[in-house]
Amino acid sequence: MNKIIIAIDGHSSCGKSTLARALGNALGYTYISTGDMYRAVTLYFIENQVDIHVKTAVLEALKHINLHFVADENGNHIHLNGRDVSEEIRKMHVAELVSPVAVISEVRREMVRQQQDMGKEKGVVMDGRDIGTVVFPNAELKIFLTADVEVRAQRRFDELTAKGQHVNFDEVKNNLAERDRIDSTRADSPLRLADDSVVIDNSSLNHEQQLELALDLVRERVSG
Ligand code: C5P
Repeated sequence: MNKIIIAIDGHSSCGKSTLARALGNALGYTYISTGDMYRAVTLYFIENQVDIHVKTAVLEALKHINLHFVADENGNHIHLNGRDVSEEIRKMHVAELVSPVAVISEVRREMVRQQQDMGKEKGVVMDGRDIGTVVFPNAELKIFLTADVEVRAQRRFDELTAKGQHVNFDEVKNNLAERDRIDSTRADSPLRLADDSVVIDNSSLNHEQQLELALDLVRERVSG
């Protein structure tokens, strides 16, 4: 079977990573959550007190950031300079700063370069905000995932509380809405629907239904 590139974009917390991971497993493709990369950069900036408004400080910091993914049976873990930070980057202090960091063009340019490199051989499922529009404009399959904001907030709230984090529902919901606002209105690579994307609203779909829908689309693209 020909290998293709699958781009999954969409709003915050609508299950892009869950779908991307399931597709990756089903197809034997590499799965990359690009949000993890922006989150890991944000964590580095927090830990090293990098002033995100000072371009030279950002550029200098980027030289010291090495990101790579390590896959195991629990999924794909992002490593920041050799340290597994996949749990740490899901915390609220990172969520609160990640969209302002992702606005910075110098950060985006470096992330996009690394992402394009990971997709060179195809056979990749990548999720994010600009995958179908900027990173892989020629991706064979582009999915734009969305869901009602209440549904998304509840899912993220459940996920965080299950991990023992103390958060309140409104804080989670406001963070999602604010990230969507920043992501959709930024000048560089805003979140938008690519012309050739297939929109899936998963407000009332379970994981299996979404995966089936997506696999049907993959079959169409591979055979077409
Ligand atoms: O996907 P996730 O919600 O983990 O992404 C965290 C943040 O990273 C997003 O809110 C967005 O600001 C940024 N991001 C981005 N471009 C991507 C992936 C994520 O700007 N391709």
